[in-house]
Amino acid sequence: MLKNTKCLRPTTSSRKLNGQLIVCLAAALCNFALSPSLASQSKNNVDQADLIIKNAKIYTSAEPQWQSAITIRKGRIVQIGSDQEAVKLAGPSTKIFDAEARLIMPGFHDCHVHLAEGGAELLQCRLNSAKNRAEVLALLQKWRDEKNSGGWILAAGLPLPAVMKEPLTRQILDQISSSQPILVYAEDGHSAWLNSKALQLAKITSTSKTTCGGIIELDEQGQPNGCLREGALALAQKVLPVLSLKERSAALEKAITLANSFGITSAQEAHANPEVITAYYDLAQHKKLNLKVVAALHTGTMSAKAYQQIEADAKKYSKYERLSAHSAKIFADGVVESHTAALLEPYSDSSRDRLKDNEKNQGLNFTPEQLKNTVKELANRGFQLHIHAIGDQAVRAALDAFAALPKGGDLRHQIAHVQLVAPPDLGRFAELNVSANCQAAWAYQDAYIKELTAPLLGKERMNRVYPFKSLKQAGARLAAGSDWTVSTLNPLEAMQTAVTRQAPKPKNSALEPALNPSEALDLNDIAKAYTTGGAYVNHSENHTGSLELGKCADLVMLDKNIFTIPKDEIASAKVILTLLDGKPVYKDSTLSF
Ligand SMILES: [Zn+2]
Repeated sequence: MLKNTKCLRPTTSSRKLNGQLIVCLAAALCNFALSPSLASQSKNNVDQADLIIKNAKIYTSAEPQWQSAITIRKGRIVQIGSDQEAVKLAGPSTKIFDAEARLIMPGFHDCHVHLAEGGAELLQCRLNSAKNRAEVLALLQKWRDEKNSGGWILAAGLPLPAVMKEPLTRQILDQISSSQPILVYAEDGHSAWLNSKALQLAKITSTSKTTCGGIIELDEQGQPNGCLREGALALAQKVLPVLSLKERSAALEKAITLANSFGITSAQEAHANPEVITAYYDLAQHKKLNLKVVAALHTGTMSAKAYQQIEADAKKYSKYERLSAHSAKIFADGVVESHTAALLEPYSDSSRDRLKDNEKNQGLNFTPEQLKNTVKELANRGFQLHIHAIGDQAVRAALDAFAALPKGGDLRHQIAHVQLVAPPDLGRFAELNVSANCQAAWAYQDAYIKELTAPLLGKERMNRVYPFKSLKQAGARLAAGSDWTVSTLNPLEAMQTAVTRQAPKPKNSALEPALNPSEALDLNDIAKAYTTGGAYVNHSENHTGSLELGKCADLVMLDKNIFTIPKDEIASAKVILTLLDGKPVYKDSTLSF
């Protein structure tokens, strides 16, 4: 029977759309594949193996946790255990690879990532390295001089600390060009700066209104100063040049290749608007999607028509094996650094009191009632909810919305970011079976934390930020994600920060003290979040996420064993081989495989 099994994944069409338990064809198939009688049959009777990897340290992310050999046939694991067992399955054309005691792990699941937009950003002027405003302007100038096509000058990755003391304004950007429109995205994607030409094209004036929250910052004269926050970004986005489908797919393909090089075999695309989902669909349709993806579809202010549309989209975009669109993204709030995170208690900095009315934190992007209603409507239609919640008020509102849903069901909702969680809410994740989607790479003392976050939250709240261990101890399921391009796409860097709460690569020789070290996770916990935890939220644990008999051969080989080297060296380990359904999607040039 194993002969004809194929890596299937759940699709919306195989799920009941009334919010009840998801019936998953893949699960049925995989459970069948895993039955003991078939397992023994596979040992005695299996057709010739395609690949045997022996003499490895295999971290299975299941029980038993460690094995030494894995045998793959038609993309599936047909044996996992000892070298002796494995070699018995070899035939004349079986490739046998000696791993020389290297570490093998399940492929990583990045459950909050923006690969399509990130891929497009790779084509833009990158500002991530800028330390101050002068460096931002120098990078923009260089781009203008070298890559100028005469149209929009688009830049991404502006670190907020670089423009904290000397802000960007439209007048400053006009120095780069007053005739060409310029748009600069912040590294976190929650703010953008425009020059005068861009404001003019977007028709943004002192009287412009935003929908769906957001702030148009005004100067002393009451004119837009060039900075847009949160929902206001949409005003600019609608006049930006649109990449063709071909360009978007090519950019996404590049980003996926990069993800594969970091060992990522599954992902949840965290904000799939129409441009994003169509690029994934295009790759899936042309069998070029080297990643198993669940897309969290964009939601805005929802109307009856919008619900109909999202339901139709989920169906349409879940036709192919490696892509399904059964998740929906909601931004409950913004980010602390811009005063747009929704907090239960007021911000601690006095500068907030001096903000103009239109710049004050609007709290939640929706009223709690609106949020409850949107969550209910989407859950009724069979969607998993993937809610962005940074502040403790947003986390609570999201949990309250989940608590108001009918009991039962298996939609596996998740809350991403969880920067600040009120202590009484920690246990509610487990109670409501809501996964905490952690961006572990954020949990160390950088300029964002020290200069932009600490003054806004104050000491008591700072002692509780990124409460990953507390969530774990309170029984929460953990998933993990990079939020790339906001932070590194490399899961090993994030894993190091999760266990050390320090910078993975200190730029200066002195390391900052750990950020709330009691919240450090064990390596096993964060490794599980990146494997089984991710597979769980993606409803794919029956065919990926761990290395077990019958599952897909989605795995990575590393050049160092992260479980035996010192914690502060985990990020120095490199993925040297990534297999997806048993086929290499990344191979280091030094590896003869
Ligand atoms: Zn995100």
